[in-house]
Amino acid sequence: LYIEEPLNAGARLTLERDQSHYLVNVLRMGEGAAVLLFNGRDGEWAARIAEAHKKNCVLELTAQTRVQEPLPDIWLLFAPVKKARLDFIAQKATEMGAAVIQPVITERTVVTRLKDERLQANAVEAAEQCGLVAVPEVREAEKLGSLLARWEEAAPGRRILFCDESEEPGAAREALARLAEEGWRGAPLAILIGPEGGFSPKERDMLRGRKDTAVLSLGPRIMRADTAAIAALAVVGLALGD
Ligand code: SAM
Repeated sequence: LYIEEPLNAGARLTLERDQSHYLVNVLRMGEGAAVLLFNGRDGEWAARIAEAHKKNCVLELTAQTRVQEPLPDIWLLFAPVKKARLDFIAQKATEMGAAVIQPVITERTVVTRLKDERLQANAVEAAEQCGLVAVPEVREAEKLGSLLARWEEAAPGRRILFCDESEEPGAAREALARLAEEGWRGAPLAILIGPEGGFSPKERDMLRGRKDTAVLSLGPRIMRADTAAIAALAVVGLALGD
């Protein structure tokens, strides 16, 4: 169960209505029942239900069961797509271990109204379902141009892997091997994925002109943006992760 509060030995926590309802009414748990808790910062903790109220259940923490696992230092920057596919991106990026999820508005981005809480809720749900104790930080959407203009300040030393379907497909393996040799392995990274209509020629030129950015093909087939995001996290994690 995910909660916001700090987790430490002996803490007593009162759950909100939804979670109390879930434990007491849906799972039919009573006093003394064991629950596992995480908050994305303090690892996983065992707790027992001290007071099984339907609206404000009280839990008592007993012991830490897992320490906080560090996430691979990979961020996912992506142009928002339609709702269900956004949910998918947030869930799968969490499972793949992205540390930060950052929506970026590009020239051809159609979907610009975003609910950060919805992305965060999807990330939390994926972590709960997979027994993960780390949840990516969901950042507010920002225009690609303005984010890149302040990149050095926003993400010092972080390099960008710009995924582009117009890049020579056969070159992916060599490109990743070369980047690993050039010190990109284990370095702070950000993967950048474009919108349904891809990046504009102006954005491509701007990205290709940056010293901290490398272009990456994910193979000869054009994938949907959500698929490309997950494929990139898998490929980059394997080739350049710690
Ligand atoms: N029209 C489809 C859609 O609705 O999702 C395809 C969109 S594709 C142009 C969206 C983004 O996915 C691209 O901007 C790029 O970042 C990434 N992408 C898709 N296929 C790729 C490939 N083979 N190599 C690299 N990036 C790819």
